[in-house]
Amino acid sequence: MHGLRIRVRGQVQGVGFRPFVWQLAQRFNITGEVLNDPEGVLIHASGDQTDAFVKALRHEAPPLARVDGVEVSEYAFPAPSQAFEIAASRGAGAETRVTPDAATCPDCLVDIKGKNPRRRGYAFTNCTHCGPRFTILKGLPYDRAQTTMAGFQMCPDCAAEYSDPNDLRFHAQPVACANCGPRLWFEDAEGTEDDAIAVAVARLRAGAILAVKGLGGFHLCCDATNEDAIARLRSRKHRPTKPLALMGRWQEIETYATPSDQECAALASSAAPVVLLAKSAPLPDNLAPGQTKLGWMLPYTPLHHVLLEAVGRPLVMTSGNLSGEPQVIDNDEARQKLAALVDGYLMHDRDIARRLDDSVMQLAAETPMILRRARGFVPETLPLPKGFEETPQVVAFGAHLKSAICLIKNGQALLSHHLGDLDEALTWEEFVKADADYAQLFDHQPEVFACDLHPGYRSSQHAVDHAGGVVFEVQHHHAHLAACLVENGWPLAGGPVAGIILDGLGLGSDGTIWGGELLLGDYAGFTRAAHLKSAPLPGGDAANREPWRNLLAQLDRAGLGDAADRLLAKHPLPLMRQAVAKGVNAQVSSSAGRLFDAFAALLGFEGGQSHEGEAAMWLEALATRAARDEVANAYPFTLQSDGVFDTAPLWQAALRDFDSGVDPGAMSLRFHAGLVGAFAAPARALVLDDKAKAVALSGGCFQNALLLNLTVEALPDVSVLLHTQVPANDGGLALGQAAIAAAARLHDR
Ligand code: ZN
Ligand code: ZN
Ligand code: FE
Repeated sequence: MHGLRIRVRGQVQGVGFRPFVWQLAQRFNITGEVLNDPEGVLIHASGDQTDAFVKALRHEAPPLARVDGVEVSEYAFPAPSQAFEIAASRGAGAETRVTPDAATCPDCLVDIKGKNPRRRGYAFTNCTHCGPRFTILKGLPYDRAQTTMAGFQMCPDCAAEYSDPNDLRFHAQPVACANCGPRLWFEDAEGTEDDAIAVAVARLRAGAILAVKGLGGFHLCCDATNEDAIARLRSRKHRPTKPLALMGRWQEIETYATPSDQECAALASSAAPVVLLAKSAPLPDNLAPGQTKLGWMLPYTPLHHVLLEAVGRPLVMTSGNLSGEPQVIDNDEARQKLAALVDGYLMHDRDIARRLDDSVMQLAAETPMILRRARGFVPETLPLPKGFEETPQVVAFGAHLKSAICLIKNGQALLSHHLGDLDEALTWEEFVKADADYAQLFDHQPEVFACDLHPGYRSSQHAVDHAGGVVFEVQHHHAHLAACLVENGWPLAGGPVAGIILDGLGLGSDGTIWGGELLLGDYAGFTRAAHLKSAPLPGGDAANREPWRNLLAQLDRAGLGDAADRLLAKHPLPLMRQAVAKGVNAQVSSSAGRLFDAFAALLGFEGGQSHEGEAAMWLEALATRAARDEVANAYPFTLQSDGVFDTAPLWQAALRDFDSGVDPGAMSLRFHAGLVGAFAAPARALVLDDKAKAVALSGGCFQNALLLNLTVEALPDVSVLLHTQVPANDGGLALGQAAIAAAARLHDR
């Protein structure tokens, strides 16, 4: 008996691929078998319609599958087969692919709203195409015994669904129903209530703040239309201004925002991230003070669906943690740590195996752009570009803020979930745990260890400890550039690009702090083609928190000290200037982020920033109220022959505007446009002179949608590479480090 051997590669395990193949086999009268093995899915097929069968395999794959390749060859069956079977998995390491958690699918929603009491209103409904995955995973292979569902014995009905290839829940490891699965309850200081949703809704409507156990951690939740409740949440959490994420059904989102088609697609994707949307109708300003956008997400678990349906208004859903600490995931931990923050808990008894924050995205330059990469995206891998096929296993440890780890194996890069800022002791613990966890889960034995050039980063020290001394150090902004190249599939031998890297702080190759850079290079190396004129950071870390310090440094450096005397009279200027003159706690930096801070201080941003990027976000929001033709009045930056952008002309022009009472919104837009024009012109020239093949945009400042849009507009006739799947901020850094270290190792061979 003759037939075909069909190899399917990609994200094809744990996504309902085998039952999908089984159903296709019925449709096209195919006999044979399908099974999982270490390389993916293997099919042996015989019949008259194998061509149509293979075509359907490629084009009709289930929603969570990602088919990277289908290879077909001749196959001689050892014995005739009469039927099509799902055969047992073969080979060690089969079923090692893990898929990200996926938002509740339309079929499950029908069940939740349907008549069958097993699933009607049941908060833990899921199927082969949706539900918890990575957040319940304790070990591999991915089957129920290795998840936090292990303790729940399937009832006969669930067991029948699980073993029927024609059923929506065939091999859905977390399958459950009201008769056998996890249980929901409400509790507070008074006791416990089983009518959980009704009680929670009544409390939320009355202005209470609740802890709600979600997929990757607890949320703090309150009525998003209740200004007073929001204010209480902020004061209890000591979080004065950082924007709070919202959850709403389509009807709520469309009441308060007008999402574009692309924004709707991002909201509705299986990752169900928080998407930043422009406000179109008022909600309390204290949700995101001074901001023109709000972060929205759709309900993504059945629990969220039943809660939102019953409460009928948008809810604040911000991560349930003490300020600076990682999100709480354990019930007892929640009772201890969140007691002073909340009035009650919506709890359940399915454990969260791993902490995953909500992911955050926005649409900018007409493309989706990820700002925080966690739930719904992790542990999906990125295929490495052409030329990286023989790469050894690499681990890279990222930066210090917004840290994430990257693993390279088998030509794929796995960027870990967002871990947070390593200054915080508990986040540091999480980082160390995550390193061990990913290494174990993916059976990773790195030959190469990469980290940032900055020896003071905890992640760099960790790399040294684990590598036994030999680490590959990567310059911060070079890593940003490479991260952008990898996710755009830029080949190893693709040639140099011009990288506009507008960032906070990163140690440069010359020992000073960089951050406003035009680099020319690729994976193998780079030169610093141009950069912002550096200015001191008076007070070191304090200069990152307090924008006025950067304004002082910028004005003094531009020879405009008398303006600083006038504008910053209430600050201790003589003391600062003395410290700068002596070089005490005042390293110099070409940071673009600090230039944004300085400009925000000029336009009236007062005091300290309570979260990173606050002043820059404020400045961006200010510019959105200006007329778009203000772009033509861009402030001048002069590119000197030594490749340094002199910022003095910018400050002279801005002070003239300031003194003649020009609207701050217009000034902010002129500033954005000036910075963009300064970098876009030489970057474009590098491409037109054939010294670079494209322009890549990276660095934390490019989270600023206005800055990104203006930069793309300023480069109309050259190819521009943007971040879409990996953050432009330090959250993407490990990917670039890993690729650069891999390229160096490949070169040495
Ligand atoms: Zn489903
Ligand atoms: Zn059941
Ligand atoms: Fe950075």
